[in-house]
This record gives sequence, C-alpha cells and structure tokens, in this order.
Amino acid sequence: MVFPLMLTYMDILQALCEKHCAQKGTLYVVATPIGNLSDLTLRAINILKTCDCIACETPSMTRKLLMHLHIKGKRLFTYRDAGEAQSAQHLLQKLQNGLSIALVSDAGTPTVSDPGFRVLRLCHRENIPIIPIPGPSAAIASLSVSGFPSDRFLFLGFLPPQKSHRQKILESYRSEQATLILYESPHRILSLFECLQKTLEPQREIFVARELTKLNEALYQGTISQLVQTVFTSAPRGEYVVLVSPLL
Ligand code: SAM
Repeated sequence: MVFPLMLTYMDILQALCEKHCAQKGTLYVVATPIGNLSDLTLRAINILKTCDCIACETPSMTRKLLMHLHIKGKRLFTYRDAGEAQSAQHLLQKLQNGLSIALVSDAGTPTVSDPGFRVLRLCHRENIPIIPIPGPSAAIASLSVSGFPSDRFLFLGFLPPQKSHRQKILESYRSEQATLILYESPHRILSLFECLQKTLEPQREIFVARELTKLNEALYQGTISQLVQTVFTSAPRGEYVVLVSPLL
C-alpha cells in the first residue's frame, strides 16, 4: 500500500523553523513590536525560543513578551546605556563561551535611539557572528505612511531637551532636502511643536504618527500652525514620531 506524502502547513513551518534555530556563539539583534504583538516575525519568535539567553533593556518588559509567546525559563540579563562598556564585555564573554544571544530592546529595533551600539561595536571587533532579525521600527513605519519623500530621509532621533539646543539643531536642517524624522517623549511633544513653529516656515508640512500599531493609533498631516491650532491644543498621551517634509 502507498501512503501519499501529506505535508501540512504546520509541518512546513516547523521544518523552516528548525532550520533557523539560534546558532552557538552568535549574536542576534532582534526587532520586537512597537505596540501590536502580532507584528513579531516568525524568525524573531524562533530565535527568542531557541537562543540560550536574551540581553534586554528592561527584564519586566521582555518577560511580558516571552509570556505572550509561551516561552518559559529563558535566561535574561540587562544591558544599558549607563555602564554599557561593562555590559558589552559581559555579553562578549558569554558569546565567546559559545552561547547564542538575542539582543532586544523594550520596543522596536534595538540600537535605534536605544542602547546597544557599543555591544555591536565590540562584537564586530572580536569577529563574533552577528545576525539581524529585522522587524518594526517607529521611524520607518511612520515614514512609510507619511506621504512625504522617502528617497532621502534624515533620522534625528530625540533632540536634546534644552529649547535653545533644539532650536539650533532644527535651524541647521531647515534647508535639508530630505524628510526629517524625530522621536519625542509624550511630555515634551507640545514644546517640540512650539520649537518647530518658531524655527520653520509656516507653510512647512508636518506629519505626526501617534501610538502606531496600538489601539489609539492616529496620523495627522498639515502645516505646523494647522496642527497646533486644531489637534495639539493640549497634549494627548502616547508615543509620537514627528516628520518634517522638505520644502517641495
Ligand atoms: N527602538 C525603537 C524603534 O525602533 O522605533 C525606538 C525606541 S525610542 C526609546 C522610543 C521612541 O520611539 C518614542 O519616544 C517614540 O518617539 C517612538 N515610538 C516608539 N513606539 C512608538 C509607537 N508605537 N508610536 C509612535 N512612536 C513610537
């Protein structure tokens, strides 16, 4: 009797997953969701499941993600901006001892306005195999829906908190022929608008992405004064990315 070879979708998925298990002595830089947990990629899930340990920013945040994935008993250790040189050495030692490590941040792509670049620099210097596991980043997600030119963009991340410093930086990019991407914390968003209003021309187009991929996701486009007078008369809570269009 001949049995037909029946492979289900789950069999294929399993086979693919096994092929992509975390390798010994390798550092995986794993992007995690910026809100919606369904945005985690299959590769990311697989690496988080099969790596020996996870280097994270805030263990409680990473534990929540692991709980959602039903991953239990994974070893976590922290790396931070403060004392990152020490964290980097610690992580390097583990890799040199043959452990596979997934580096994650609290949300999005590690090292993008997040700690980790010193770890990466050290691992490159020591010829440690490094593999990116790409996924969400608030900067790219907002650029992709902004309708602003995306062939040239300049990621400025968080501007310094001092108003005069911010103003100086924004002035230096006034005539940049690229879309500017800024991150901002919720309690400084109104002050950033004030600064944009003071520095840029009134007709300059701004795009604001709030709470991307979350329940209260909202996208706003208009001139700075339009947005300040209508939407941002008070500071709605949440996380923001602000994009500034080049003068077209
Ligand atoms: N590594 C992250 C990434 O790849 O986007 C960025 C981390 S940075 C510490 C946090 C900032 O990213 C927030 O202050 C906000 O400007 C932006 N951000 C993160 N998640 C966001 C979201 N869901 N919606 C809008 N902005 C977000």
